[in-house]
Amino acid sequence: MSTQVQTTLRGPEAFALARRALDEMESVGVWPTPLNFELWLHWLGEPECALGVEMSRVLGSGTVFTDAIAEKLGAEYLPRGRLSEEIRDAGAVLNRELSTVSEAIAKAQKSQAAYGETLAGASAHLEGSAEPTALLGVVSNLSKATTEVQFENATLEKRLETSTREVARLRDHLEEVRRDAMTDALTSLANRKAFDEELLKACDEADRNHQPMTLAVLDIDHFKRFNDTWGHQTGDQVLRYVASVIGRISRAPRIAARYGGEEFAIIFPSENAFVVEKALNQIREEIGTRALRRRSTNDELGAVTISAGLAERHPGETGSSLLDRADKALYASKRTGRDKVTNGERLDQAA
Ligand code: GH3
Ligand code: MG
Ligand code: MG
Repeated sequence: MSTQVQTTLRGPEAFALARRALDEMESVGVWPTPLNFELWLHWLGEPECALGVEMSRVLGSGTVFTDAIAEKLGAEYLPRGRLSEEIRDAGAVLNRELSTVSEAIAKAQKSQAAYGETLAGASAHLEGSAEPTALLGVVSNLSKATTEVQFENATLEKRLETSTREVARLRDHLEEVRRDAMTDALTSLANRKAFDEELLKACDEADRNHQPMTLAVLDIDHFKRFNDTWGHQTGDQVLRYVASVIGRISRAPRIAARYGGEEFAIIFPSENAFVVEKALNQIREEIGTRALRRRSTNDELGAVTISAGLAERHPGETGSSLLDRADKALYASKRTGRDKVTNGERLDQAA
């Protein structure tokens, strides 16, 4: 939950906000499930945040607000909450495993100690008498104690095996959760959170290796108009299509992400502005010349175009300053007619 909403929920407006959320849900016929409640709190508590804007759009479009939509919005905008829940569950499983394993170890230690005592007792006995019947008794006791301790060891081994398997399963699951939390659900590109982390890493690496690096931002032109004409679902298909072209041209070590609604970003480690400009024009041309068709009705949708801006990193420059310059270049493309790629270096020189 965002800090702004968190703060509101512990302030003088808290109950009024919660009541409004309930009323609003009731008025649009949505069940007050915990997820819906959280979504509505965000929407009302911070209408300008990304989730708030998206909620306004969905509710404004007249679409029935289904559980599936709530799930999708939750997965996209509330990933941290879900991640921490999964981690809490994983923590509980780990605790359980650890405590059963330590119980098993304690039990095995106890029986090892008892076995030691039996052995010591036997040796004391043997020193005292060498009579055959007494000897027989000692040996039979020893054999019984040995069987017991072997049984305990085998049990411990089995317990450890099960736990190792369980912990490995948990590790895989957490890895999957981590991947999900870093992936945009609609396009399968990296999401903004992953991108921000990658940008930091790429900047460090560029400094360490004294290499260039270039950042690009891309935005679909007049996408609102497209959505208004063809509907949100068709809009989503177009987003997936655009993402697929971007993804194909941004194979590793390049990193492509869906940075916002219809906005994408690509990191080009160790590449300069000249090469990146060419790659972006390739993406732009491929998208802009493809006649799209609506999957459900086969209607011709025409083509969508994209605008892009790029900036090559100055040595030591922070990720956010680089992003800022790439954004300025994108807006220059928008201002000067769209369906364009602007190289920020040229913009900087002109200024
Ligand atoms: P510009 O050329 O200046 O970028 O115009 P635009 O209409 O693309 O830009 P604007 O920022 O005004 O509108 C962006 C639109 O993108 C608003 C919304 O309808 C659409 N959008 C954002 N996220 C999604 C999404 O996940 N799915 C769909 N279908 N549309 C989205
Ligand atoms: Mg746009
Ligand atoms: Mg935009």
